[in-house]
Amino acid sequence: MTSTASRPATGARTPLPLDVEAIRADFPILSRTVRDGKRLVYLDSGATSQKPRQVLDAERWFYENVNAAPHRGAHQLAEEATGAYEEARAKVGAFIGAPENEVVFTRNTTEAINLVAYALSNAATAKEPEFRTHAVGQGDEIVVTEMEHHANLIPWQQLCERTGATLRWLGLTDDGRLDLSDLATVVNERTRLVAVTQQSNILGTINPIEQIVARAREVGALVLVDGAQSVPHQPIDVAALGADFLVFSGHKMLGPTGVGVLWGRYEVLDALPPFLTGGSMIEVVRMEGSTFMPPPQRFEAGVPMTAQVVGLGAAVEYLTALGMDKVEEHERALTGYALGKLAEIPGVTVIGPPDTVARGGAVSFTVEGVHPHDVGQVLDDLGIAVRVGHHCAWPVVRRYGVPATTRATFYVHTGYDDVDALADGIRAAQKFFGTV
Ligand code: PMP
Repeated sequence: MTSTASRPATGARTPLPLDVEAIRADFPILSRTVRDGKRLVYLDSGATSQKPRQVLDAERWFYENVNAAPHRGAHQLAEEATGAYEEARAKVGAFIGAPENEVVFTRNTTEAINLVAYALSNAATAKEPEFRTHAVGQGDEIVVTEMEHHANLIPWQQLCERTGATLRWLGLTDDGRLDLSDLATVVNERTRLVAVTQQSNILGTINPIEQIVARAREVGALVLVDGAQSVPHQPIDVAALGADFLVFSGHKMLGPTGVGVLWGRYEVLDALPPFLTGGSMIEVVRMEGSTFMPPPQRFEAGVPMTAQVVGLGAAVEYLTALGMDKVEEHERALTGYALGKLAEIPGVTVIGPPDTVARGGAVSFTVEGVHPHDVGQVLDDLGIAVRVGHHCAWPVVRRYGVPATTRATFYVHTGYDDVDALADGIRAAQKFFGTV
């Protein structure tokens, strides 16, 4: 969580805990230029992060030296591929404080959430009684929040449509926080699962997961935490988190695309039927029917994205060497600085918490009189990459009465010069569109 003790004043240029120049040297893409020779100012890590050479090297090493399908075949390459794949699982587990048998590799956060949602509806029709424990059906309720990324909303809407369960949600306050005033009624005896983001991709808000977990425990509901925007940016220990599931994407944490993670409490995973079925997740197969492996293999059907998993292992090693506490502190300093800089520009409104308390580094804003897409266009002309639109969180922009926002997100290679470039770029957009 964000600690108020080390909170920098917004706008203050406190020394950054990470050596930005040394880190930038690890990212080949940051040495390229864009838009007629301009330095690339990459402020879109929240969409996908850039990759350090160490991650690229790990994937290349795998393809050049090992490439084989893991958990199949008796030859040396297959054995080494299995070793590399499982070693990466152990690294990812250690990164979040989990034993390796609780780490399931998926394609991304979206697939990890769908895996859980489909397992819960498959549970209702499972022939094996041991898979029916968490079945969702008519009369049951699933709780989300109005702050969710579509990836943590639509799979639950669809689960409710498949099963006859009801979707309920926690609303938002005017300053971009979860409104927990009706937590005790929204999360009730009918609730089977609460799905909540730890850090909003659009508002930057860090949610009080412990309070939500405590209420879910009182009513016996499961909790799924969307860590797509938290695991890359703050230290996470699943034991302290207290939830049942944590999901995140490799590509947002310096790792490759095509690999994500579902962490699940072992006894909960063990009670779930599979989502995808096929090779490598079975125990015995007969024409009449099949039995399935225990977790995590039960949820990893087919030849997995082995090189990407190895790359993700290198990414967590890279982040661990930097220190996740430093990564968090670095981004908090940049966020405080950015909020201060934006507050100095007349006509700019930040959508989300105005200071760095319980807030991460996604800074969304509007510029009076200039459409977010036009702001993005002017910034792009200056070599500054930001995200514009509804950020796959349409209910959030609707809640705050704006059509879209411009969003800057920070990471380990971001420095004060990037934030200065953003502020200068916004002023340039205002000048271009004649609003100042
Ligand atoms: N949840 C949040 C909070 C996100 O920011 C994102 C990605 N923008 C996702 C889920 C989905 O991640 P992916 O597209 O990697 O599946």
